[in-house]
Amino acid sequence: MKTIVANWKMNLGIRGSVALTKQILLALKAQKMAPEVIVCPGYLALSEVRKVIAHSRISLGAQDMFWETQGAFTGEVSPTELKEVGVSHILIGHSERRNILGETNEMIAKKVLAACSNGIVPIVCVGESIEDHAAGITIETIKKQIQQVFSLVAEQGFTNPIYVAYEPVWAIGSGQSADPKEVAKVHAVIREELRSVITGSVSVLYGGSVDDSNAQSFLAEEDVDGLLVGGASLKLRELTEIFAIAADNIG
Ligand code: PEP
Repeated sequence: MKTIVANWKMNLGIRGSVALTKQILLALKAQKMAPEVIVCPGYLALSEVRKVIAHSRISLGAQDMFWETQGAFTGEVSPTELKEVGVSHILIGHSERRNILGETNEMIAKKVLAACSNGIVPIVCVGESIEDHAAGITIETIKKQIQQVFSLVAEQGFTNPIYVAYEPVWAIGSGQSADPKEVAKVHAVIREELRSVITGSVSVLYGGSVDDSNAQSFLAEEDVDGLLVGGASLKLRELTEIFAIAADNIG
């Protein structure tokens, strides 16, 4: 089954997130087959969205978290707090957090460890910059990121399921998606790199300017287990179409 993750970023408030979630539920009910769906609203909307998706097949994700479970960390949100509001999945290391807020691979590694230790499924984002892409060093960059962000969990022998989202930085929100065949090659490398580190299941998703017009080209690739969708996940019609395409590509 393919996976669709909707990352709503800082775009919908509580009311907007609840309204869209209700519409998504209705849309999924109307579809015979459905992919795995994970919605990631902002922190403040998590509790209300959880009420809407209770007893449904939609899972609740958060967009970030801190690596400690408790203490004097003003403004941070812990894995245990997120679990309390029903979060099962967590985006970690999104490029907007790396580039705007200065998150490093070392910080991301601590967050991946915290997610695994606390039973939250990490969706770990990796991706090359436009400069690395132009220099033809995408694979080297991705390998380095994977080694660094999984360095701490590698020592622990976790069997948790892991999602990795391959998101070329230049493709996020730019309207310029990556080539699906190139994406499939990078996904194969990610899987290979993780084989020596993770014994649990690994799902590799693609993200970067996905919409209803290009979703098929990615989901048709065997090595693409699903999609992480930003902008298009805010538009019900486009998102519903992406669900239908994902359901058709059982893979
Ligand atoms: C994202 O936020 O992870 C993303 C892929 O955004 P967009 O689909 O808008 O490029």
